[in-house]
Amino acid sequence: MDLLEYQAKELFARHGVPVTLGRVIENAADAAAAAEALGGRVVVKAQVKTGGRGKAGGVKLAADPAEATERARDILGMDIKGHTVRRVLLAPAAAIAEEYYLSFLVDRANRDYLCIASTEGGVEIEEVAHSNPDAIAKVSIDPAVGVDDAKAAEIVAAAGLPAGAVDVVRRLWAVFVAEDASLVEVNPLVKLADGSLEALDGKVTLDENAAYRHPDHAAFEDKAAADPLEAAAQAKGLNYVKLDGSVGIIGNGAGLVMSTLDVVAYAGEAHGGVKPANFLDIGGGASAEVMANGLGIILGDTQVKSVFVNVFGGITACDAVSNGIVQALEQLGKQANKPLVVRLDGNNVDEGRKILSRANHPLVTVVDTMDGAADRAAELAAQA
Ligand code: GDP
Ligand code: MN
Repeated sequence: MDLLEYQAKELFARHGVPVTLGRVIENAADAAAAAEALGGRVVVKAQVKTGGRGKAGGVKLAADPAEATERARDILGMDIKGHTVRRVLLAPAAAIAEEYYLSFLVDRANRDYLCIASTEGGVEIEEVAHSNPDAIAKVSIDPAVGVDDAKAAEIVAAAGLPAGAVDVVRRLWAVFVAEDASLVEVNPLVKLADGSLEALDGKVTLDENAAYRHPDHAAFEDKAAADPLEAAAQAKGLNYVKLDGSVGIIGNGAGLVMSTLDVVAYAGEAHGGVKPANFLDIGGGASAEVMANGLGIILGDTQVKSVFVNVFGGITACDAVSNGIVQALEQLGKQANKPLVVRLDGNNVDEGRKILSRANHPLVTVVDTMDGAADRAAELAAQA
């Protein structure tokens, strides 16, 4: 789970990393009071889970509460790399003397941890790596030892950070370990005009496998930012992932659904680059209700132009799945308004196909092979 900047800073504060927490608002109308309370001169920062907010116009200084209101109005609702800004953080504007970069991450290739640090902070580290690779220090960390005083001093010296940074380095490592993070990144870590250090930005990825030891982390979950279709699917217990294409996909079994995505993407190339719209695995017991729920979610996606139902009958045989499709279409009524291509195989396939041809639903086409069905579904999506 990735945290928003203000959440990362909350964690930092718990471990004594110097930060200014500021205030988070969702309505521009609340900006003036927040800015007033923070001393008037503030920075207004978009809270979205992507970097480069500054470049995108999502980080702006405001000289007074009136200006803070204007900047909050500009930034709220903004789209930054596909993320809608629903919250902004207001913090006292810092007087920055220097900007540094510091991160801890899991180094899978070397089976240890890695610290990356640089005095060239404030810009994307990938850019520095490209333009000035010598300015980046990479220090590997023995997991059995961690970052002790000696290691922190080694990091600070290797990067050329001010000596006072040793304490911040140790505290950020404490965040990384104690919170079970797989990434802690501060860009920029700044030296202020008075010489003190502060984490001005924060990016933290928490390891969800360790969630059971951190009941407090649940509060960081950002339900509002989740895709509404994914949220609806989760509420119905469906294994659904929204993608960008136009062919809705329903299948039983994760492996079958994955290969269905591949086959549709491949078939789609012949129809102007049509792509799958989602991953949806309805699992083994594909009852009418589950089928209706799944179809309901997929048809709720305005990008979907056709639906490919790809089922291999096993414990739940094809006739049961076909009855599920017929009943689901009845339940959905007018909501079912896009062509469905159904491919059935496996247990009781003949009976399953008979049920669909008897129902003779105007939207349903049965195609016998997976490749043929993928091609038909892609063609229907391209024609729509
Ligand atoms: P990012 O672009 O998403 O990484 O957002 P940051 O929080 O890192 O902000 C981008 C840049 O805005 C920083 O590198 C700073 O140069 C600048 N910035 C952020 N907060 C302040 C502040 O309080 N005062 C000043 N003067 N600049 C700030
Ligand atoms: Mn940053």
